[in-house]
Amino acid sequence: MPVQILIPASEVKDRQGSALVLDHEGRCSRCNQTPANFFEVHRLHYRVGFKHNHLYGKKYRISKSYLLKIRVCETCFKSDYLTHPELLDRGTSQLAKIAHMHSIAWTVGGLLAACGFLLLTPIIPANGILSTIKQMWQVPVVVGVLVLFLTWLSQKKYQSKVLHEIEKTNPGFQPLPRAEVHTYVMKTEDDPSATALEIILENESWAEACAKNNQWKYDQAPLPEEETLKKG
Ligand SMILES: [Zn+2]
Repeated sequence: MPVQILIPASEVKDRQGSALVLDHEGRCSRCNQTPANFFEVHRLHYRVGFKHNHLYGKKYRISKSYLLKIRVCETCFKSDYLTHPELLDRGTSQLAKIAHMHSIAWTVGGLLAACGFLLLTPIIPANGILSTIKQMWQVPVVVGVLVLFLTWLSQKKYQSKVLHEIEKTNPGFQPLPRAEVHTYVMKTEDDPSATALEIILENESWAEACAKNNQWKYDQAPLPEEETLKKG
């Protein structure tokens, strides 16, 4: 049964710069393997006081970003590269660097192509030097599409290499899911014990031990609505 850990506001309200780390005896939070020197990362926000009239400016009275890191082993980390390369921890590992490079290339390729198409629209007026630039709209589009295509090829190449490595070390490996994370918008900051973050983990024993060590509340995760209906 999946377990939900309830993290109080006091644990996340001042986390800018220092991540909230979920750990239990250095074991992988998904498969219990050691060593587990990698992390699954979630980029989250601690938010207080939703503003209803937010036509301009801030939507929340307080909004602070922070990182949640959950310990995983190398195999689980690698399996994330196959399923969610864009969410990989931007740490110092070789794979993280490759994933980061690909993510930059996706952005650059997309921006170049978008610039080319923008030149085609009347938003850029066709007068003076701009008319010459407008006529060359194909150049950024072609370069952008080429960058996207090469990035896609390179990512596929690395993914098949990683898949091969996993199959070699763990034959028949089935990827285990990332944690499910929900953040709550706090009304006020009066109660530091109020739940600001909920983390659902599939590995029951690991999640319970981790919550107990940190004196966090935990409970069996409620079944998704569809399953509850089927069972009812
Ligand atoms: Zn693992």
